[in-house]
Amino acid sequence: MQFRDLKKQYEVLKLEIDAGIAEVIESSKFISGSKVQELEKALANYTGRKHCISCANGTDALELCLLAWGIGKGDAVFVPSFTFMSTAEVVATVGAVPVWVDIDLGTFNMSPVELEKAIQKTLTEGALTPKVIIPVDLFGLPADFSRILPIAEKYGLKVLEDGAQGFGGEIQGKKACSFGDASTTSFFPAKPLGCYGDGGAVFTDDDEMAVLLRSIAVHGKGREKYENIRLGRNSRLDSIQAAVLLPKLIAFEKYEVEAVNRVADLYSNKLQGFPVITPSVPGGFLSSWAQYTLLCSDCETRNALQQELKAHEIPSMVYYPCGLHKQKAFEYCSQGVTLPNTEDACKKVLSLPMHPYLTETEIDSVCTVIKSFFN
Ligand SMILES: *Cc1c(COP(=O)(O)O)cnc(C)c1O
Repeated sequence: MQFRDLKKQYEVLKLEIDAGIAEVIESSKFISGSKVQELEKALANYTGRKHCISCANGTDALELCLLAWGIGKGDAVFVPSFTFMSTAEVVATVGAVPVWVDIDLGTFNMSPVELEKAIQKTLTEGALTPKVIIPVDLFGLPADFSRILPIAEKYGLKVLEDGAQGFGGEIQGKKACSFGDASTTSFFPAKPLGCYGDGGAVFTDDDEMAVLLRSIAVHGKGREKYENIRLGRNSRLDSIQAAVLLPKLIAFEKYEVEAVNRVADLYSNKLQGFPVITPSVPGGFLSSWAQYTLLCSDCETRNALQQELKAHEIPSMVYYPCGLHKQKAFEYCSQGVTLPNTEDACKKVLSLPMHPYLTETEIDSVCTVIKSFFN
């Protein structure tokens, strides 16, 4: 059993993917070819955003936004600690300071209550200027934007949705990567919509920001290719990745999001009555299930359960074993910080195999091991 079976997906979509790749090779338009523009249109259309600007990866996508907004020295950016490195890394690489916000254990996403406390504390201390909030759509579930956006408005902060894991999710029918001033996603192979290498994208409705993002992503270009009006980066999605993503997006929209939701429902039904908390999706929300993550009663149980699964050749992962505020890289900005829910989650979480091509037989075999472990 695979944790995320990319090979099975390729078998299903092989004809279209191979044809798209061959087309790019024959055209020799490896960078910024027509497939890239076609993909950007399709992605903007899917998310409901006015602009999609593709780039080299999901980390760059976040950094490009912070650069476009001029975020840097002396600025505070509010981020969860229970997330992948990139969310906070980009804050530090542009020279700003990540200010940690604890999560809600029910969703693993940024707590709006803790967010407001962190903003007020930063204002009171006065050393940093609050500028941006980066809520993460963790494990496929959109962050609580209906409560976060009003807080951003109240304090005059920008909102950057980190949708690297959230692509395909929804709140009240509104798609992930459409919330806040700008949103980003990643096409890393194991993400909900993955390519065959690295890739990412920014989404925004802001025309000026879109122009700025395209400039920064290509060496600060002006109207002409060899006119450079600012310092930028080299961050582009290549045409072959776009060719892989185009048929994958069709399958994603047609049946893959539905399929992962079916898998999640099967897991949750079969695991009812056992001493693990299965992930819950709040009313009005839809998850794209980047991960299906259990909360065990304690660390020893989690580790023993993972060993038991491993003994039956069932892969599982701990996302994440350590909050970013406890990582050495962020020691300098985490003095005296305690995030009880983040620290608790790190000890108790366990993610099970999850992908659209998981069969009920496979789900049964995972659940049988879990049940016999607890019996
Ligand atoms: C994967 C991920 C990223 C970074 O994406 P890359 O394409 O790997 O650079 C950013 N944020 C979160 C929450 C992620 O899971």
